[in-house]
Amino acid sequence: MKTLPPIRIGQGYDIHPFKDGRPMVLGGVTFDTPYGLDGHSDADVLTHAICDALLGAAGLPDIGHYFPNTDPAYKGIDSQELLKQVAITLHESCWEIVNIDTALIAEKPKIYPRVEDMKARLAASAGIETSQIGIKATTNEKIGSLGRAEGIAAHASALIYKTNEPNN
Ligand SMILES: [Zn+2]
Repeated sequence: MKTLPPIRIGQGYDIHPFKDGRPMVLGGVTFDTPYGLDGHSDADVLTHAICDALLGAAGLPDIGHYFPNTDPAYKGIDSQELLKQVAITLHESCWEIVNIDTALIAEKPKIYPRVEDMKARLAASAGIETSQIGIKATTNEKIGSLGRAEGIAAHASALIYKTNEPNN
């Protein structure tokens, strides 16, 4: 078997519908809006996509395997706690994060004023620098369900590399 370079890429995708009266949490940052995203946890669509990108890169099962949405323990949970656990799981398998890049598809709210806050929260949870995280936001140009502002979708890519020993 060939020796491959010790780097792996992963991809994650998530989507949550809007719901009035729910907290609006993206990348660990709460937006001041009368609506939020519906879901079992805090419905942080961006953080969920990042978790899946990291787990996928490491060849591990997805976020639903580790944190089932049928488990009352995760009801309303701060998704930063999930990302912290994913980072620990990767470290235990000797994986380090090279970088994470993301794209949010959202007609609302305005994302850009909070991007630096989101990077800071995500970097702290993942144990990396803010310069290792990219956050982009786009609308869906009024096309389809996302364009009708029925919810928010997030895409994430992650690059990881294998170290020689666990780094906790
Ligand atoms: Zn989710």
